[in-house]
Amino acid sequence: MKIDVTLTTTPKAKPQDESKLGFGKIFTDHMFIMEYEEGKGWMNPRIEPYHRLSLDPSSTVLHYAQEIFEGLKAYRADDGRILMFRPEENCRRLNRSADRMCMPDIDVDFNLEAMKELVKVEKEWIPHAAGTSLYLRPTMFANDEALGVHAAKRYIYFIICAPSGAYYPQGLAPVKIRVEDRYVRAVRGGTGFAKTGGNYAVSIKAGDEAVKDGFAQVLWLDGETMQYVQEVGAMNMMFLINGTIVTAPLDGSILPGVTRDSILTLARSEGYKVEERKIHIDELMDACESGALTEAWGTGTAAVVSPVGHLAYKDKMLAVGDAGIGKLTRHFYDRLTGIQWGRLDDPFGWVTEVK
Ligand SMILES: *Cc1c(COP(=O)(O)O)cnc(C)c1O
Repeated sequence: MKIDVTLTTTPKAKPQDESKLGFGKIFTDHMFIMEYEEGKGWMNPRIEPYHRLSLDPSSTVLHYAQEIFEGLKAYRADDGRILMFRPEENCRRLNRSADRMCMPDIDVDFNLEAMKELVKVEKEWIPHAAGTSLYLRPTMFANDEALGVHAAKRYIYFIICAPSGAYYPQGLAPVKIRVEDRYVRAVRGGTGFAKTGGNYAVSIKAGDEAVKDGFAQVLWLDGETMQYVQEVGAMNMMFLINGTIVTAPLDGSILPGVTRDSILTLARSEGYKVEERKIHIDELMDACESGALTEAWGTGTAAVVSPVGHLAYKDKMLAVGDAGIGKLTRHFYDRLTGIQWGRLDDPFGWVTEVK
């Protein structure tokens, strides 16, 4: 399929102060979009001026939430190259999410081409300041105009781009996390592994209440027994216990993060002991109390690595290590961001240049 490109005749002014970009508030001049119809497949792929969508009020997505998305970034390297980090993994994960939600898949190479073409068109929108990037939000949703509950026959796929500020303008900072003991995010056989809007819809209440109580995010426990640690809001979690990196296994209820996989791969290649296994919340809190847990960090595209300084569970709040930024936490942050911005060697061939 050929991607038609129509450029805007009224480009917007680009943000001048890159320290005020924030996240996901400003969008670029163009978007990628195409439609799908059962029996016909994907059609009419095009890059065109950014615009609103017009939906019928009966559109499937508004009623039954058949929706999936992705999140990845394009980076401006010091030498001027435009880089993307493992974008093919996002294309593959989108298809795994699509399968779970009975939605059509998109050829990985074609989707990759669509992302790269859009980044090329929006090159000037990639900010320059340290730590900034262009965030890409590929999204697919069902768009039948009828209320019956079944997999839709029509879909829309689009990619929009948002220049985004540095996640840590003041440098890495540790956060306080609350272990959630009332609400759950995912259950066995559910959609935990899919990047679908519904997983976020059910998690907002717990997150809001945690923020009200002074925490950055919640750490989810498994939906069946509420005893095993899963992940935080939009990040996977890793713990350094007695020198071993421990993280929850991909059992279908946590999101298989690209950052998670990258850090585990780096850790193994650097000789660290890594365990993907169930972690009981009592084991974690005991390890925290005894000092066996020396570091904890979240991993995700937005923050890359987010150090955890405190963990609270029921009425206990404990410091992780010295409540600061762990050595290994900082090391993985520096190593991965170094690869992503093209400052360090890329031994695993993760970086794709857009040219
Ligand atoms: C996107 C996401 C992550 C992180 O995945 P990355 O590919 O590393 O960005 C983790 N957990 C949830 C629930 C997510 O939606």
